[in-house]
Amino acid sequence: MADCIFCALLAGRAPATFLHRDERCAAFMDIRPVNPGHLLVVPTTHAVGLADLDPDTGAHLFRTAQRMAAALRASGIRCEGVNLFLADGKAANQEVFHAHLHVIPRFRRDGFGFKFPMRYYVPTRRAALEENAEQIRRVL
Ligand SMILES: [Zn+2]
Repeated sequence: MADCIFCALLAGRAPATFLHRDERCAAFMDIRPVNPGHLLVVPTTHAVGLADLDPDTGAHLFRTAQRMAAALRASGIRCEGVNLFLADGKAANQEVFHAHLHVIPRFRRDGFGFKFPMRYYVPTRRAALEENAEQIRRVL
């Protein structure tokens, strides 16, 4: 896509620091890292979100992210843990609309984390879980 920054990186029209590239995906350093070593794994073919992503490519993204996480842990970069994160849609804080999987090295008290709402601590009734599960099962 002409106006997609990740497509531009993949085509060599914008600078990127690549770690890996194959026929289905590429991994490169995030230019706005949460922590040093933060990288992204993206499909080489433009896909906006999960619904547009070929499932085999999605599996390959995860496989590559798993390999990148192992490399991070072995690299000497501070990495006591790893988060894999994919934002699918604006409401989920997706900012670049070319699907991408974040691989984020983590360490204690690094200041990064998910913010849970206040109501997070309220236990959910089993009936509500069953109702939600039924809504999901209906469209599986
Ligand atoms: Zn793109």
